[in-house]
Amino acid sequence: MPKIYLIDVTNRDGVQTAKLGLSKLEKTMINMYLNEMGVFQSEFGFPTTRHESRYLQANLELAEMGVFQPIHLGGWIRAVIDDVKTAFVLVPGLKHLNLSISTSEQMISGKFRGRKKGQDIIDDMAAAVDAARSMGVESLGVNAEDASRTDLKFLIKFALAAKEHGADRLRYCDTLGYDNPFTIYEATRKLAKKTGIPIEVHCHGDLGMAVANSLAGAKGAVDGGQDAYINTTINGIGERAGNADLLAVVLALTKSKGFADKYELGNPIDLSVAWKIAKFASYAFGVPIPLNQPGVGANAFAHASGIHADGVLKDPENYELYSYEELGRGEPVYVETGREIIAGQYSGISGFSHVMGELEVSFADEEEAREILELVRYANVASHRPLVEEELLFIAKYPKIVRKLLTMTPLE
Ligand SMILES: [Zn+2]
Repeated sequence: MPKIYLIDVTNRDGVQTAKLGLSKLEKTMINMYLNEMGVFQSEFGFPTTRHESRYLQANLELAEMGVFQPIHLGGWIRAVIDDVKTAFVLVPGLKHLNLSISTSEQMISGKFRGRKKGQDIIDDMAAAVDAARSMGVESLGVNAEDASRTDLKFLIKFALAAKEHGADRLRYCDTLGYDNPFTIYEATRKLAKKTGIPIEVHCHGDLGMAVANSLAGAKGAVDGGQDAYINTTINGIGERAGNADLLAVVLALTKSKGFADKYELGNPIDLSVAWKIAKFASYAFGVPIPLNQPGVGANAFAHASGIHADGVLKDPENYELYSYEELGRGEPVYVETGREIIAGQYSGISGFSHVMGELEVSFADEEEAREILELVRYANVASHRPLVEEELLFIAKYPKIVRKLLTMTPLE
């Protein structure tokens, strides 16, 4: 029986969202939490974008060191030969890659204005796949942008060509959130059946159905005999109305009526990381978690009305599908209401040593303490907000990596 895997795209779709962004250290922390959670792959960034180069290299180094294992770190680029070449010049150790190109008539004619036809799109994609394969990439996905508005016959032809040239997966992008669970199910089932290639589903929330469509799309792929990969983002942050929320997708796969009896995750997901990762992404993006967010919203386990409160006190299962403990919630949170010493971009050694002492971090000598402090200062310049404890601990533990993350030299 084929399985369902998760590819989180917070560090690609999430950060390209209008008005939002993350520092390179924040992106690294997201990869760390995703790995801890058991997510199959993190789409960790843009290998042709120069300000990402050192961040991408440093994260690959963490993978090499065994710190980011077993997660796959996948880059996203356009399906263009020159972009493939640039990607491997800037980030030589890339192992996993997705190549993207528009496939709908709307986008082919609307973007290329008559310069390209359907066959040109297939040829460009095939050439880019060949180029990526010749660079020794380990796994390769091909993205059909606007797949939901693409003629299915053309999509099948496109997928078969991708497979023939050595692509491992087809990403079915519902770029505009146009599908519904019924249409995406039919599309992915047919695609899986007719092409024999594993299918990724990439769903957006313009019509409020990103999670439902992801579930239905994955079911379609599995019913069609292929593995399914669901693209998610933390807290659903993504272009416009956002992507399929990571936690909601996991909950839907594992807790919704009868689904888990028939459809299996490819690797186990540790739900106890859910609270931590949602809180961190919310803080790093500066986007509050909605009150009614599945699992991690402030009201997700709140009961006020008489009948509900009485019922949940007698037996939580009366009004809760899953427990807050399972999601890593329920630990008391310590909030300082008195004096606070904070490590920031203008901190000195005394305040910094105090902060790190509270975290039970000690340094070999003052030189080492000053080196870590300097990195903390730069990290704060990049994020413009106090670093969280886990960021401070990460910097103290991997100073060489963090130095790379924080180094940016424009126009070199
Ligand atoms: Zn997207």
